[in-house]
Amino acid sequence: MKFLDALLLMTVVIPSMPANAQEPDWAAARTETLEHLQKLIRINTVNPPGNEIGVARYLDSTLKSAGIETHLFEPASGRAAFVARIKGTGEKKPVLLMAHMDVVGVERDKWSVDPFAAEIRDGLLYGRGAIDDKGMLAANLETMLLLKRSIIDKGGSLARDVVFVANSDEEAGGEWGMGWLIANHSELIRAEFALNEGGRTRIVRGKPLYVAVQNTEKVSHVVKVVARGPGGHASVPLAGNAILRLGRALSAIATHREPVRVKATTRKFFAELSKVWPDAKERRAMADVASLDTGRVKRGARVLAATPVFDAVLRNGISAVMTGGGIRHNVIPTEASATLNIRTLPGESLDSVVKRLERAVKDSMVAFEIVSRELVDAPASAFDSPMFEAIAASLRDLNPNMVCVPYLSTGATDSARLRQWGMQSYGLLPFPLNQDDEDRMHGNDERIPLESLEFGTKLIFGAIARVAK
Ligand SMILES: [Zn+2]
Repeated sequence: MKFLDALLLMTVVIPSMPANAQEPDWAAARTETLEHLQKLIRINTVNPPGNEIGVARYLDSTLKSAGIETHLFEPASGRAAFVARIKGTGEKKPVLLMAHMDVVGVERDKWSVDPFAAEIRDGLLYGRGAIDDKGMLAANLETMLLLKRSIIDKGGSLARDVVFVANSDEEAGGEWGMGWLIANHSELIRAEFALNEGGRTRIVRGKPLYVAVQNTEKVSHVVKVVARGPGGHASVPLAGNAILRLGRALSAIATHREPVRVKATTRKFFAELSKVWPDAKERRAMADVASLDTGRVKRGARVLAATPVFDAVLRNGISAVMTGGGIRHNVIPTEASATLNIRTLPGESLDSVVKRLERAVKDSMVAFEIVSRELVDAPASAFDSPMFEAIAASLRDLNPNMVCVPYLSTGATDSARLRQWGMQSYGLLPFPLNQDDEDRMHGNDERIPLESLEFGTKLIFGAIARVAK
């Protein structure tokens, strides 16, 4: 081949697409994704009871009519587990695309629209699940359809199987979700990489800024603080009153600060964000935290502590969530308690946190009892893997001004289970959202900008097409 011919040929090859493939028709895909999402929102899957089977049947018939292999299971009445697969050549191991079908309940009177009508207003689609997690379910569905049509049906091929998974019961324990699939049909979902929910794509001060890809997460435990003291008639005040003792203990817990621990993921997160962050003071603080200089890390952490979510990725978190004690208005109880939700950074010890709290409280009549200890504390997935690289490359194509950063999430997801199972798992929320829209997740008037839906679909498609090339 002559040099010039080779050069010409190179210019017509689309980098994200395998040979024989064709760039999808994005105008048609945008309409199609929106229609799927509207239909998915209109099938009510509030959990409990979930009733995800309706959504699973919709996915099943849509993918089947496109000629894609599907598996639909009903692990319990009304619940569903759904898997679909586009076969690759087997040259590389499969990649998994996951989303859950159930949604959380609604406070109907606080919504300005019907949460299950999937109404569009001013370029925004409203509905329960629009961002958590039916938006991603629709984007994943569209990705499967586009891979099939623009690659497989055009005579092209994929180096990996692409496996689509739709789960039940993510919002209420996951008994019929990923755990069930791993226990009963692990052969269908074994993969090298998984894309799940759990990250974020943030618009800051009106500008799309970054995609945070969750590659590790905090670990959630429950600890009870129990204060004891002498009981008696309320007419005779007692210094050792258990409720007052609990109050003093909680006050000590409120001022206690866990030490700053910058994990590799968080170091990279702040190092990358410091390049694009709009506020100069915070930008410097991010660079400080990402440095290896102890003094600078301390200084930076102090500034970032003003933003609760940044503070939460820098140390173990302690939230008081419930209190209890007392039986009637004229009796001093012998016991009062508070429940703490403690979220340890990956690899950190809950027992050490409790020891530090005991030292902070300094009261032998106050005991800490571990109510539940989460044992899944999986190693972080690599942020230089082909999957992470594929997401970053897909983003560069869509918006070269945004950065792709690894992210330690404060919330727990199914991905921890997959990581422990040996799968490199990544969490995305591929839709650019500002803080206000992001906060509507699990809240009122949940909505997704139509532009963001299109962006997210392209981001996922681009990432999967690249990693499966
Ligand atoms: Zn979710």
